[in-house]
Amino acid sequence: MSSPGVALARREPDALRVAAAESLVTWAITAHPGRVALTVSFGGGGLVLAHMVSRIDPRVPVLFLDTGFHFPETIAFRNRFAERYRLNVIDIHPASDPGPLYQTDPDTCCHIRKVEPLERAMAGLDAWITALRRDQSETRRTVEPVEHHEIGGRTIVKVMPLAHWTRDDVQRYLAAHRVPHHPLLDQGYTSIGCWPCTRPTAPGEPERAGRWSGTGKTECGLHTFTTKR
Ligand code: SF4
Repeated sequence: MSSPGVALARREPDALRVAAAESLVTWAITAHPGRVALTVSFGGGGLVLAHMVSRIDPRVPVLFLDTGFHFPETIAFRNRFAERYRLNVIDIHPASDPGPLYQTDPDTCCHIRKVEPLERAMAGLDAWITALRRDQSETRRTVEPVEHHEIGGRTIVKVMPLAHWTRDDVQRYLAAHRVPHHPLLDQGYTSIGCWPCTRPTAPGEPERAGRWSGTGKTECGLHTFTTKR
């Protein structure tokens, strides 16, 4: 006789995939009370995790890196989404404003507007939930659902419940739970960041091809500034 997990996997593989992600979010929250946060850009898979957090414990901080260059649609959608699901959204701001540095030095711009603020926010945390998926890009191909990362001389748990999900899994979850999606997805955007560094993608292009298009830059640094142990 097979275990309930094996039986579920045979009967409803999609259900198990979702259940496993939600179990991971539950574990991250219950194992690190008061020391865990979710980071979300409100563009894609983060909405799945924000929805799960709202059902498990809506007091969990949902960190939003307010770079000052988000699309107005992103800010409006974030506000609607946070209100609908009663999320504890916390805006994280840069410590300084270097102006439109994205034109000349996008790496430093991302560091000032994203990486340093997140590093600061992480100071009081032991666990970080984020929506990275293997199928998003080559640079994310090897992420594991649970990793240990060194940050500022200490170790935190980086939890990526959607590591094995596909873009279709995300869309299926949002549809099944009637969770709204970012309005720019209907205008050809497949990954949404700051407006100066994001364009819509053409059919068949990789999901993140519209980010820093033509510059060779593929990551903002949020997922490369920590060291995997
Ligand atoms: S994505 Fe562009 S505008 Fe946003 S922080 Fe990075 S370089 Fe600056």
